[in-house]
Amino acid sequence: MSDPIWSKIDHYFDALLVPADPALDAAIEASAAAGLPSIAVAPNQGKLLNLLARILGARTILEIGTLGGYSAIWLARALPPDGRLVTLEYDPKHAEVARSNIARAGLADVVELRIGAALDSLAQLIGEGRGPFDLIFIDADKENIPAYFSLALQLSRQGGLIIVDNVVRDGAVLDENSPDPAIRGIRQFNTMLAAEPRVSATAIQTVGVKGHDGLAIALVTDGP
Ligand code: SAM
Repeated sequence: MSDPIWSKIDHYFDALLVPADPALDAAIEASAAAGLPSIAVAPNQGKLLNLLARILGARTILEIGTLGGYSAIWLARALPPDGRLVTLEYDPKHAEVARSNIARAGLADVVELRIGAALDSLAQLIGEGRGPFDLIFIDADKENIPAYFSLALQLSRQGGLIIVDNVVRDGAVLDENSPDPAIRGIRQFNTMLAAEPRVSATAIQTVGVKGHDGLAIALVTDGP
């Protein structure tokens, strides 16, 4: 559910702080034209990801869940010229749209898009000795968040950030008896996060054009 006032306030801040951007706007338009679901992060959330990556001085970023490449463009733009973003997507149609959007944004040489189930791609990255990554953004299927988080811990550097989207789901996160695998995955992840000694973490609710949801942010305090 998205309250109209939340959307108005998002538009107000976007007009002030997140000006129109040809490549990002084109990515949203091309994704909609190709029939992709409208589930990318909001513009002000994309900028938040970009700012966090810049604050961190990230040189390597891993994203789980590409869709049309909208958040990948925000994140890749935070990288220095020799930086690298790896983004994982299992739907070939989404990947095709993302490739085109990323190329239009001039980031084809910065972004490596891997097609396949993210659990397989993550195992491959670990097998190839890739990483450690400075920032990992988890934004794919929610039932696998606990597994993604475990693998992300293996792939993150000490001092790196792991950001997990959609940890509130319109308040459904409070339903301890939810039969929904997505909610069960989120709740299991939140419990893992609380018990994980290698991170210092928090979670915040977000409201806006994307409704009522939330972000968890974990600083990896003990890692490779
Ligand atoms: N991060 C994107 C953005 O903000 O622009 C939005 C990602 S969208 C919320 C989630 C994406 O994860 C979808 O494109 C979906 O196809 C993909 N996905 C879902 N399950 C997946 C899986 N098991 N492995 C890889 N990608 C998956």
